[in-house]
Amino acid sequence: MIKLAVVGSSSMDLVVTSAKRPKAGETVLGESFITVPGGKGANQAVAAARLGAEVSMIGCVGDDFYGEIILENLKKNGVNTEYVEPVTGSASGTAHIILSEGDNSIIVVKGANDFITPDYVQKAQKAIEEADIVMVQQEIPEETVEYLAELCKKLQKRLLLNPAPARKLSEDVIQQAAFLTPNEHEFEILFNGRDRAEVLTEHPNKLFITEGKNGVRYFDGHEERVVPSFVVEAVDTTGAGDTFNAAFAVAVAEGKSYDECLIFANRAASISVTKLGAQGGMPVRAEVERGLE
Ligand code: ADP
Repeated sequence: MIKLAVVGSSSMDLVVTSAKRPKAGETVLGESFITVPGGKGANQAVAAARLGAEVSMIGCVGDDFYGEIILENLKKNGVNTEYVEPVTGSASGTAHIILSEGDNSIIVVKGANDFITPDYVQKAQKAIEEADIVMVQQEIPEETVEYLAELCKKLQKRLLLNPAPARKLSEDVIQQAAFLTPNEHEFEILFNGRDRAEVLTEHPNKLFITEGKNGVRYFDGHEERVVPSFVVEAVDTTGAGDTFNAAFAVAVAEGKSYDECLIFANRAASISVTKLGAQGGMPVRAEVERGLE
């Protein structure tokens, strides 16, 4: 069984649907409310565990009711939570989502995710040392991503950095990461709107740009290639990127070729968009393999 370490965020998503979006100072009646566990780190950990990897999550929850639910959900999905600590006096990360008038408005409160500091990661170094691949996203402090990139380089561990949500990265971090997986929007911000083909050739077999239903673009050292995704009826694309990243990491750790990894990751992500919710549609291994027969 391959081993992954995921350093990243976890949160509780509080989702209301409402026909009308309230203006400042206004109160409206909504139609429904649900709470679902999310956060890019937790989503990717859950997706990788469902695909059969042994996953250790390195993260923080609040010392509140949501923290307990977040931990319970990770455990239920087979993720090792030994390195997920409740932070005294902090709320868990939350995302407050209003679905209204055909669009969403979201307020994210980082809460305990801000406590995932370099020192905190250092205490979990054992999980990183034991991992075949380490994964990180950008819902945690920037200095932690920088520390982790440096640490992985030192330990000769491959780091998959999913630069989401978008923010700039230092040249050092870009060099230190083994894989970078921005979507098209994140790519623009990460590389200052530079010419895509040019940037791709500078990062062969490292920069994988996800392009929604079109699949993934990368440069294999000889030519630019696009591996198309699978045609499905998309119901909810939330978490598509998280499933893609987890499946890609699992396949790379298993020693598959990049083409095989991308087909596997596209398949897993395309299944995930056919059901509601980020984690709701994340497939187990057998579903992905059935889809590839
Ligand atoms: P993000 O979810 O981070 O914005 P993308 O939209 O690029 O990222 O989606 C990530 C991956 O999910 C794609 O590369 C593809 O494999 C898969 N995917 C996303 N949307 C669809 C879709 N409508 N149909 C099939 N696959 C999809």
